[in-house]
Amino acid sequence: MRETVLGGIPHLTQFSIQALIRHIRRKHFTGLNRRIHFYFVTNGPLACSCPTSQRDASIFVHQPLNEPTTPDLVIEYLIKHQLLHMQLPHWETKWHLNEHSYSFWEAEKTISPHRRDAQSWIVANFFPWLVRPRLGMMRLKSNWKEVQNLSRMTIYESRQFCGAGDLRTW
Ligand SMILES: [Zn+2]
Repeated sequence: MRETVLGGIPHLTQFSIQALIRHIRRKHFTGLNRRIHFYFVTNGPLACSCPTSQRDASIFVHQPLNEPTTPDLVIEYLIKHQLLHMQLPHWETKWHLNEHSYSFWEAEKTISPHRRDAQSWIVANFFPWLVRPRLGMMRLKSNWKEVQNLSRMTIYESRQFCGAGDLRTW
């Protein structure tokens, strides 16, 4: 399904991201009152979020993930991660990038049973283009456009690529 976003980059994923957000909210974030907007962008971290008005918040995900072959569980994982940030006490007043406490990771583990597969897929497919300046803030190098035309590993292939080590990297 393609969702055309006004003034933004069309979504190329094979699933509706807004439907996915609605599903996640109903299941895990019923106390969250903001409207959530989702954008693919060509700069910034791999994924981030910020308040955009009193009633709105936006999630930004980097463009290489905007592909028909991107598994829904990868986008689902990134959305859950960002919605968890929105529940943190300081999220309103600053960018969240340092806010990965032990309790944050524990909460994420509880609601994201597929996070290991999602992380493996991202690392396996973007490994040569990833910069990791510090825990919790994954960026792509400036030559990230090289990855655009390459075929992606499947979830199964990326599991083999990453092995069984801990990938708790952002
Ligand atoms: Zn984060």
